[in-house]
Amino acid sequence: MAAIIMDGKALAEKVKGQVRAQAEALARTPGLAVILVGDNPASRVYVNGKKKDCAQCGFYSEEYALPAETSQQELLELIETLNSREDIDGILLQLPVPEHLDEQALLHAIRPDKDVDCFHPYNVGQLMIGEKGFLPCTPAGVMRMLQEYGIDPAGKRCVIIGRSNIVGKPQALLMLRENATVTICHSRTQGLKEECLRADILVAAAGKTGLVTGDMIKPGAVVIDVAMNRNAEGKLCGDVEFAAAQEIAGYITPVPGGVGPMTRAMLMENTLLAARMHG
Ligand code: NAP
Repeated sequence: MAAIIMDGKALAEKVKGQVRAQAEALARTPGLAVILVGDNPASRVYVNGKKKDCAQCGFYSEEYALPAETSQQELLELIETLNSREDIDGILLQLPVPEHLDEQALLHAIRPDKDVDCFHPYNVGQLMIGEKGFLPCTPAGVMRMLQEYGIDPAGKRCVIIGRSNIVGKPQALLMLRENATVTICHSRTQGLKEECLRADILVAAAGKTGLVTGDMIKPGAVVIDVAMNRNAEGKLCGDVEFAAAQEIAGYITPVPGGVGPMTRAMLMENTLLAARMHG
């Protein structure tokens, strides 16, 4: 039987509707500032999407589209101004930034209570020790999808392909928090196929088109494809060979229309949380 396709697009719309209703009940409109440095076309698309989401959730949003040659000092000054503004609850620096900039230093300059991407070491630490606070958007979006489809990770074997700070590592922490038995795979992992075949929940986040073939999937498994790659024809695709995997998995996320929209919805939830914290 073909797998159930997990509709991240529809769920993201539902989540944003809930965020809007909660935002309307606040005394003040939540505000998000997005900083974009340079003219990376993919980043431009992401920033436009975030602005649209803010409008949909009834948030105030500001965009700073800065030239590629903007200096570290100029950016630090902008972040400092945004840090001190009461109408701005969240600050998002769109990545990647041009090479001459120190990305980590910029991310660390964002006040932790405005760090809606959850990249600041304080928030990463909170996540690590299981304290309440911002959740990293992509892994949180994955967890929300599992919840929506009634999939409880407790006691299940979860295999994550990828160990980045943005996806793989925080995904492992969130799965662990939900009592899954977690394995993290990466480019040096030996026997990736065997690891994957043991997975009740497989999360692919390597950014390698076609890495996960149908014969790597345990029958009935939940397959979450986080990747956003371009195939030879320039079409958006994930790491998983969708057609083959769909015949074997129990649940599967499409690309596009799976994890991507959920990531954006979780950013809106974090901005709402920031606004609540700011009173
Ligand atoms: P990244 O920083 O490049 O990390 C990729 C990870 O995959 C690394 O840990 C790497 O291992 C591992 N890897 C690469 N090739 C592998 C292989 N052949 N076998 C096993 N592991 C392999 O990427 P990222 O930022 O985490 O993003 C991953 C993918 O998710 C990309 O396609 C990205 O576009 C997508 N993404 C989507 C969303 C969304 O909203 N849907 C959000 C963020 C990212 P090493 O550590 O050993 O190098």
